[in-house]
This record gives sequence, structure tokens and C-alpha cells, in this order.
Amino acid sequence: MDDARVVAALCQAWSGESRLTILDADFKEGLLFLKLWDAWREATSRPKRLHVIGLLPALPDRVALQNDVRARLKGFGGEQLLPQLQAMLEVWPLNLPGLHRLEFEAGAVTLTLAVGPVDVLLNRLRVRVDRFVLSHTSLLPQARLLAADGAQVCWRDQSAGLARQDAVVRTLVPITRAQPSVVPPYDPWLQSPVALDAQHALVVGAGFAGMGVAQSLAIRGWRVSVIDANWGQQTSAHQQHAAAALTPMVSKDDNIRARLSRAGSLRAQSRWGALPESVLLRCGAIQLQRDQGRIVDLAAVLDALQFPSQWAQFVSAEQASELAGMSLGRGGIYFPTAARVHPQGLLNALSTTPGIDMLHAQADRLANTSGVWQVLDASGKVLASAPHVVLAGGIHTQTVLKQSGLLKENARLASMHALGGEVSFIPAADLSGGPRCIVAGDGYVLPQQEGHCVIGSTYAHAAQEVLVTQAGLVANLKRAAGLLNIPELPGRINVGALAGWAGWRAVLPGRLPAIGPVLHAPGVWVACGFASRGLTWATLAGDLIAGALNGEPLVVENDIIETISDN
Ligand SMILES: Cc1cc2nc3c(=O)[nH]c(=O)nc-3n(C[C@H](O)[C@H](O)[C@H](O)COP(=O)(O)OP(=O)(O)OC[C@H]3O[C@@H](n4cnc5c(N)ncnc54)[C@H](O)[C@@H]3O)c2cc1C
Repeated sequence: MDDARVVAALCQAWSGESRLTILDADFKEGLLFLKLWDAWREATSRPKRLHVIGLLPALPDRVALQNDVRARLKGFGGEQLLPQLQAMLEVWPLNLPGLHRLEFEAGAVTLTLAVGPVDVLLNRLRVRVDRFVLSHTSLLPQARLLAADGAQVCWRDQSAGLARQDAVVRTLVPITRAQPSVVPPYDPWLQSPVALDAQHALVVGAGFAGMGVAQSLAIRGWRVSVIDANWGQQTSAHQQHAAAALTPMVSKDDNIRARLSRAGSLRAQSRWGALPESVLLRCGAIQLQRDQGRIVDLAAVLDALQFPSQWAQFVSAEQASELAGMSLGRGGIYFPTAARVHPQGLLNALSTTPGIDMLHAQADRLANTSGVWQVLDASGKVLASAPHVVLAGGIHTQTVLKQSGLLKENARLASMHALGGEVSFIPAADLSGGPRCIVAGDGYVLPQQEGHCVIGSTYAHAAQEVLVTQAGLVANLKRAAGLLNIPELPGRINVGALAGWAGWRAVLPGRLPAIGPVLHAPGVWVACGFASRGLTWATLAGDLIAGALNGEPLVVENDIIETISDN
């Protein structure tokens, strides 16, 4: 079968679909994706959304990919695909395991690259697939678990050889869905896209979580009403919070928390990359090797993970000092893509996304009338109503669920607790201008913003209220002294003249967030429990929830979803 017929087979009858999901189990250099995208662009009648999932063991390097695909396009006269190739290369991700979401045509065409062993990945995807492109019958049982109603398989002809592999398809045959051994009665993660006229959601909370969700919904064309008790007030959660860190983390066994933080950092960088430096400064971060307590050999951790150096690299004390522009006593892991963020600047920017409107009000509880969710205040007044609600009020999410009679005793959310803490602001001049990158370890020191460096932070267990305290300032100065290798720092600063910011972290067991549906209340979702990583998990929460409501392939794997969505 020639190229045109392959694409025609995959696009067969697609005009009747609102969206089409195609899984290519052997993505290689992505020629098939480029052809499908081109066909979608040229079609007069086509699905509103085209989602392609490409499975591959490792991602080729961008430059190698460019040279290889260019040559192949020229080889068969496919130059009309060059603009699409260029667009794909511009957002081509680093070779990191897990899922990567690339968006084109204002999100109407998406490419989800799943990197790792194909059989493992097939078990980890949460998606309904309409068309599969497979080369081996051995993948059929796993494909059956992902098949949508009416799904079909295109068989790649192995005999055609690698050079023409993506140009040759033998047959297009129906594939029936197999039921998994444990079938949930209803899986909100795998729903059909919400109809256009029902695309209205209420979000309770305008912190990182709420605004992350609101942005993800709004850019998909949803109407979003965000309700916050403190929006626009001096008491707003991050009004005084001068700067915060957006940094990935690693673990030797690449555990769920590390994978989630990688996915979250990647999503945040992709969504917030165009923000001005005053809001998001890509300054990089050094995670210093510990010098006391439980010492983990960070160089060995990175050796085991084999990540590209553009994502994480081990640096000596000399290299770390060079990067920070200050003499640091230790080396550690350098994350070049880490960023310093101005929290309120970020929230303000997200609130201006077309489709979002902000309401200043305190939500007390939810009520459901005829399938529509209402958010009520303490007097019983209806603040707003919509078919979908996302509760993202940090620690107060628990209270709203309880008031609504929706908090199950044994749910993970019932064990969420508040952990107070404060950061301090120190004049950059007292730190010779401060570090050029984030210096982290036991706490952190951030590059200066408007003449001050944020240093922190404290952990106040069982606190009744959060305040900036003298003890907190002293503790943060000691942390900064240790990180920056300036033992005399606390002695030379007038603590009484320093300012700071204090806030709450909502913490769940394992310091993993709660993101997902409230199963016993269809239409209600939560995004909370972000602990110390609100920036890392905000966009990811948004793209997971908005993705599910739009019937998209989910942006993280099944095992992660199961862990964070057990609400
Ligand atoms: C000292 C300190 C330093 C930190 N540093 C960092 C850092 O560097 N990087 C990082 O990523 N994270 C950091 N964090 C953690 C980060 O602040 C949290 O993870 C983040 O705030 C969680 O966001 P959220 O939107 O879930 O909750 P919140 O920030 O608590 O926001 C919840 C919002 O919901 C509103 N709300 C709550 N209930 C209701 C209701 N019933 N009705 C209406 N509105 C309601 C609140 O007014 C608030 O605006 C730090 C935290 C502390 C305490």
C-alpha cells in the first residue's frame, strides 16, 4: 500500500468523529504522524481533535532527527511536510522516560510520545484508541484493553523492510475490546468528550492548583468560573510570596514521586514557557550533595538514571560555584531547566486566559440539582452552578467536601493535614548579589528578585496559625548559611529588619497530591495536597483533569494515576 493509501486507511470515515485517537506502536522518526497531520490540515471535513500516540524505546536527538527525516522526505518527494517537521522539532522533548505531550494547531492536533519498552507502555496508557498501527500480533492482547468501540488495526507489513515501514500497511481490521480483570463501574478518566454546551466548570480556589486547572480547561475552549475567598485581596494566598522554585526531583529507582515531578515540570515549562522573566526565570537549580545525616551519592543516582545532561547533570563544587556565581562548598545535581517563579505574577497571568472569570467569594458546600453542581456560601446562597466542579482550595478542600457530605472516612483526602511554614527575604546585597541559580538542599536560596533573595523554608508541624516569626527568620538564615557556605551569615544580619511570607502546605501521605474524580459524586474533581511542590503539579493537574473531560490520552501513566486519584 502506498503512502496515500496508508493515511487514507487511518483517516477512513474520520469526518464523522469529533475526535480521533491513533496509536502507532512503532513511532520511529514520526513520518506517519507528519503525514497524518498533513492529511488533517488538507481535509475539508475532519475530526475537531486528532490525537496521535507514538511509542518508542528512546527519543532520537533533535539534530539527528532533523537530518534523518529531512533526507527521507526529500527521498520520496515529501517536501510539503517540512513545515510540520519544523514545528515538531521546535518542541521535540529531551530523551526522558515517560510520556511527553506535544501540541499543534492550538491544541487541535496532539502528539503523545510514550518513551520506554513498548509492552510496558501499552499496559500503562490510560486512553481509548480508535485506530492502532501495529507490526506484531504479540501486542494484540494489550491493544484490546485500550480499544474504543469500533476500533480498527492497521497491520504494518514487516516484509517491506524498515526503509518503507511506515509507508506500508497490509490490512485494516476490526479489534474488539477486552475487559480488564478488575473493571471499575465507571471510569471518569476514560469518558467521552463533554459536549460543547456542557463545557462549563467551576473551580474553587485560585492558588496554583485552581489556576492550573482553570488555564488547562480554558485553553480547550471551556468557560471557567474560579471562586476564591481572597482573590484580589492582600490576604490572597501568595500576595506577599516574593518568589518560589519550580524544580524537578530525581530518585535512584525513578519512583512515582520522581516521575510525577518530571511530568509536572515538563508540563509547566511547556504551558508557562512564554511568560516574561519577571514571572518565570529559567535560572537552573543545584541540588547540593548533603554533607550530614543520610547522605545519598547523587553522582551514583544520576549514573543509574542516565538522563540527558540538559535535564540533570552532576557538578563538582567548582562547577557548582561557577554556575551559582558564589563559592559553594559542595557539588550536586544541576537541573538546567529549573525556574524561579513570582507566584502572584503567575496567578495574575493565568487569570487573564480568555474563558476564565474570577469570583471573589467563600464557598461553603456543593449541592447537586438535576445533574448540575451548585457552589453555595455559608448562608445557602448559590454562588455559581455548572455541570463540573473542581475543588482546589488547598487544605480547605477537605472542609468543602465534608460540608457537602462527600468526604469518605477512608479516602486518602481524609488524611490530608496542614503544615505551616515561612520563607524570609534577605537583601541581595547581603549575599553579594545572591546566587545566579537556585541553590537547594536543606531548604533553598533563590536568585534575587527586585533586590531581595528568598531563603527558606521552615516546617511548622501542628501550627494553629501561620506567621512570620523571629525564630523562622533565624532558622532560614542558618539554612542559607549552610547552603551558601557562609557560616558567619547569621551573625552579620539584623534579623529584626528582615521580612518574610508564611503559608500552609496541604500534605497527604507520601507527599503525593490528590488529583482526580470524586467517584461517588460524578462531575466533582479535586486537585489538592500539593505539599511543597505546588508549582510542579499545577499544570499537570490541569492537563489531567481537562484532558479526561475532553477524552484525550492522559499525560501520565496508569500507575501514577491510580496512586494520585484514589480519593
Ligand atoms: C513557606 C513555603 C514555601 C513554599 N515554597 C514553594 C516553592 O518554592 N515551590 C513550590 O512549588 N511550592 C512551594 N510551596 C508550596 C506551595 O505554596 C503549595 O504547594 C501551593 O500553595 C498549593 O497550591 P494550592 O492551590 O493547592 O493551595 P493554596 O495555595 O492554599 O490555594 C488555595 C486557594 O483556595 C482558596 N480557597 C480555599 N478554600 C476556599 C473556599 N472554601 N472558598 C473559596 N476559596 C477558597 C484560598 O483563598 C486560596 O487562594 C511553599 C509553601 C510554603 C508554606
